[in-house]
Amino acid sequence: MLIDNHNRVINYVRLAVTDRCNLRCNYCMPEEGIAFSKRESLLSLDEMKRLCNILVGKGVDKIRITGGEPFVRKDLMELLEYITGLEGLREVSITTNATLIGPHIEQLEAFGVNSINVSLDAITPESFYRITRRDQFELVHENLMRLIASKMETRINFIVLEGQNEGDILEMIDFAKQHPVRVRFLEEMPFNGGSKDFRSLKWNHHKILEHIRGRYPDFEKLPAPLTSTSVNYKIPGHTGSFGIIPSFSRTFCGSCNRLRVTATGDLITCLYGKPVANLRTTLRSGFNDSFVEEALVRAVGSRAKDGFEAQEQFGPIFGSSMTSIGG
Ligand code: SAM
Ligand code: SF4
Repeated sequence: MLIDNHNRVINYVRLAVTDRCNLRCNYCMPEEGIAFSKRESLLSLDEMKRLCNILVGKGVDKIRITGGEPFVRKDLMELLEYITGLEGLREVSITTNATLIGPHIEQLEAFGVNSINVSLDAITPESFYRITRRDQFELVHENLMRLIASKMETRINFIVLEGQNEGDILEMIDFAKQHPVRVRFLEEMPFNGGSKDFRSLKWNHHKILEHIRGRYPDFEKLPAPLTSTSVNYKIPGHTGSFGIIPSFSRTFCGSCNRLRVTATGDLITCLYGKPVANLRTTLRSGFNDSFVEEALVRAVGSRAKDGFEAQEQFGPIFGSSMTSIGG
């Protein structure tokens, strides 16, 4: 089992399978993209399989596949088939922009993928285009409806962006009134690859909640696991529910149970810190699995207490893009 220096059990890994993406969300990266990693520095399919196997052996029971856009990776389905078969892994989930998932939905269900988070920060084609710089709203909407109808739990992640999609917040709540989906509103974070200036956060978790209260004053708080990053609510009479993730305010760090592995194998023990090891180098060193296990144990043995401490220790990391970190 992986236990960190603050006595937190680490059982959740977010694995970015690529840093490439077919959208250009303006809060994530600049229009021209970022300096994407060379292909040979990305973990290969076999390296990812081996790593997941090692992680599960160390007690990880939840893996979220992210990116970049995971579905731009051609061998993604092969990876998913492998990891959904790993004994000891309780949950496999994916975070996606839902543009390319359509042809794979039945297969994902058949593999037993548990849940899909669709990142969708807009409720109209116009606001979608403004934010993602691509004209794919209808396709995403169609795939989202198919996902909601599938056996997989489907959630929507909506980043609240000052001056860009405030008008869509209540429309999104109304979407969840009709459909069995949880919409989670997230605070914007300064990981945009230099795409825009990030000075201060207007739409923090308090303001988002107050905005929703303006139309729906009667929501009730839902119970959530200790390790949940979202605070969840139900509005009476609504089919779905909503949640708020204080991703910039960082109120949830005390119970953090997660590690991140980037597409190039960097191991990140806090979103607001820098990589503490490169697992690709260890995986390629020719040594056996115990060397990778030791690297993991060493990394979790010196984790920052929270995102503010990590930020202080590591200095400003805000120039980086979420497409290389994985969200
Ligand atoms: N391409 C996939 C997607 O968009 O779902 C997976 C990768 S994306 C980097 C993972 C998550 O990070 C998405 O939910 C996205 O909205 C979020 N994200 C990206 N940049 C962000 C930022 N600057 N602040 C907050 N969340 C961000
Ligand atoms: Fe691509 Fe996801 Fe970043 Fe949007 S948030 S540019 S979909 S990686």
